[in-house]
Amino acid sequence: MQYRKLGGTGLSVSRLCFGALTIGPLQQNMDLRRGAGLIRLALEMGVNFIDTAEIYGCYPYIREALRDFPGDVVIASKSYAHTGEEMKKSLYSGLDLLQRHFIDIFLLHEQESYFTIKGHREALDYLLSARDRGLVRAVGISTHCVAGVRAAACLPEIDVIHPIVNMAGIGIQDGDLGEMLEALSLAHAMGKGIYGMKCLGGGHLIPQTGKALDFVLALPELAAVAVGMQSRAEVIFNVQKFTGGQPDPGLASSLTKQPRRLHVEEWCRGCGNCVEACTAGALRLDGGKVAVNRDLCRLCSYCAAACPEFGLKII
Ligand code: SF4
Ligand code: SF4
Repeated sequence: MQYRKLGGTGLSVSRLCFGALTIGPLQQNMDLRRGAGLIRLALEMGVNFIDTAEIYGCYPYIREALRDFPGDVVIASKSYAHTGEEMKKSLYSGLDLLQRHFIDIFLLHEQESYFTIKGHREALDYLLSARDRGLVRAVGISTHCVAGVRAAACLPEIDVIHPIVNMAGIGIQDGDLGEMLEALSLAHAMGKGIYGMKCLGGGHLIPQTGKALDFVLALPELAAVAVGMQSRAEVIFNVQKFTGGQPDPGLASSLTKQPRRLHVEEWCRGCGNCVEACTAGALRLDGGKVAVNRDLCRLCSYCAAACPEFGLKII
């Protein structure tokens, strides 16, 4: 495995980051043993970086995967908290569920621009005070927006940026790939630690997995890339790819035949909660049920968390 310094945070992270979303309740909903086993396999193969979020519901898997693991592991999490009180609750809940004394990286989840960050100022200030007290080591934002990357690049108190980036520009909310790459270059020049997300376009680029991974691995701005993994084969394939090896061709072709999509259950009652939760504009109400625009959907599952009926899932 290759490791990179994450900007000025002092953290050294594996280039392959285990994206926990896919194993948890919003997607595969694996039982604890199976999900933790997958993370543990990645750790034993050299991965030392795990990305999660409060909304993903994945802390128990990570806690179990780390039980008696001898190495140091960097955990990044995120919260939608706006206020200091809400952020304090989020952070302490993470510490409690992970059974740790600190969380390495804590991010404001889905920040769109300078104004969104300004609107979360109290939560950010709480994280900065938590960093001073050693409860977190680095703070930052995750974002699907060019404007979010640009804003965070110019804020000296931000250590880490977790942006969407993939070879097709899928899921960038406010611009194109060229603009995102320019913003990443600025953020890198400002010393930010950057690790990417959605390098497979939320699943749309699975048929071109090798090419899509080569693209992000060639970006010098990215210290690491978070990749969601749902099987031992995927972990092995990604580790082989991120260590510069040539993944087993049989493994590669079996994985590229597994496209995913957002499925709406028959019992959707058309309440519209998910439509509001989708910042990609991929959902609309049609005839009393929700309809998905598959060209816009980046398979992030955030709408699933907003559905009181458990009516949405990635399959
Ligand atoms: S429809 Fe759901 S899964 Fe697709 S982009 Fe919107 S929130 Fe994400
Ligand atoms: S939140 Fe659930 S029930 Fe409401 S419209 Fe969306 S899928 Fe249907």
